[in-house]
Amino acid sequence: MNKTKVVATIGPSSQSKEVIKGLIEAGMDVARINLKHADYDFCMDVVNKINELNEELGTHVALMFDLKGPEIRVGNFFNGEAEFVAGTKIRIYTDDTLGDETKLSINYPKLIEDVNYDSLIKVDDGHVVFQVLDKGQDYLLCEVVTGGKLTNHKGVNIPGVRLDIPFLSDQDKDDILLANTLNADFLALSYINTHEDILEVNDLLINMGNDHIGIIAKIENERALEDLEEIIKVSDGIMVARGDLGVEVEVERVPGIQKAIISKCHIAGKVSIVATEMLSSMEDNATPTRAEVSDVANAVLDGTDAVMLSDETTIGFFPIETLKTMEKIIHSAEQDVNYLEFMDKAIRTETKDTTGLISYNVAQTANYLKCKAIFAPTISGYTARKISRFRPSCPIIAASPNPLTVKSLQLHYGVLPVQINELKTFDRIVEASKKMVKDIIETEKGDKIVVTGGYPFKDVKHTNFLKIEEL
Ligand code: PGA
Ligand code: MN
Repeated sequence: MNKTKVVATIGPSSQSKEVIKGLIEAGMDVARINLKHADYDFCMDVVNKINELNEELGTHVALMFDLKGPEIRVGNFFNGEAEFVAGTKIRIYTDDTLGDETKLSINYPKLIEDVNYDSLIKVDDGHVVFQVLDKGQDYLLCEVVTGGKLTNHKGVNIPGVRLDIPFLSDQDKDDILLANTLNADFLALSYINTHEDILEVNDLLINMGNDHIGIIAKIENERALEDLEEIIKVSDGIMVARGDLGVEVEVERVPGIQKAIISKCHIAGKVSIVATEMLSSMEDNATPTRAEVSDVANAVLDGTDAVMLSDETTIGFFPIETLKTMEKIIHSAEQDVNYLEFMDKAIRTETKDTTGLISYNVAQTANYLKCKAIFAPTISGYTARKISRFRPSCPIIAASPNPLTVKSLQLHYGVLPVQINELKTFDRIVEASKKMVKDIIETEKGDKIVVTGGYPFKDVKHTNFLKIEEL
């Protein structure tokens, strides 16, 4: 059983119930829908299938809706595509000029005003790059710096230029409503600039009466990096969105940024997700490259909570094999994780309140006594999240009567969330813990477990007991 969680994006390659089932069986913890590509019917279809499969398989796969966010794109090309040759000059318009190898359009009315001379305009994740040479009345004169073929509606990044478009489009607002209606567990926010963007989404959610959805801030540009500390404070988790980030900032900076984000999230007790191109070559091949294996393993060794698959599972030819490969790499890397180092870091930065200290002792005791599991009944998930931060070497079985809590814990490192009936007495907790641990993981007579939580359930807000049980 792996501790590092896996988010898999659902798309054409994985939309069938059979493939989704295969992904769940291979270990998918969270299914992500990318609203850049998904329409209403797709969302309904996938959500229904996941709900059915959770019911059929007794699993708790959570659902992440990833908003489109403010973005700009190129328009249409004559024949749907155009080849741009490095060194040539082209014009960029903001109306609906049909593109060819000498011109194209971008759907941002203030483009000419907002870009700087020398600004780089990167299209299709930087596959084609233009540099601004001059500003005409209604066009930009640019040089093709990196040539290549473009097709209709490819995404555009202009590093260093703040676009004057509202953070939430009407479509994003509709998508938030849909995420709320369909009971999504996580909402990922694309292209945030500051923590205020997150607060705006929070306001919308509060107005909908939604206090359970977890907010995942995607770090994809320099501005978000500048406000990282505040963004972490107001989010439930951070996604290192390496796809866009690697276009917006120098790509060689991404590994260092990734490590820093994982570490800051760990200190703050927030979830980190490393995303994009983790096993890219497996879109077309049944085996990964050595570099990809190393990438996944290093994210695990650095202590990320989750890793993510995108194109590999949406348009790749081997969605299930890719997920299985990812789980194998995680499993192997987790044998080499320096758990003590993570625990030391966690206690150094702990607020040292009752829950924090009990959680620390739970994790440490579990390690010293080589316990098979930590059993943590929880209403809100707080106890399990706190223990997860100390990275104990055994699984944390978080048992909650609240299905929303169960799914909300699917991104947390080492937490295995399960649903239970409400446990009313302390004796029932202890009795149930032994039975559930034996049902869920392989154990032998005499194995030890740690039981922890807050008791009485309804009256205490913090974790207040630690009990060692022998099976
Ligand atoms: P995307 O975000 O897949 O929605 O673009 C992730 C990334 O940019 O890495
Ligand atoms: Mn992105």
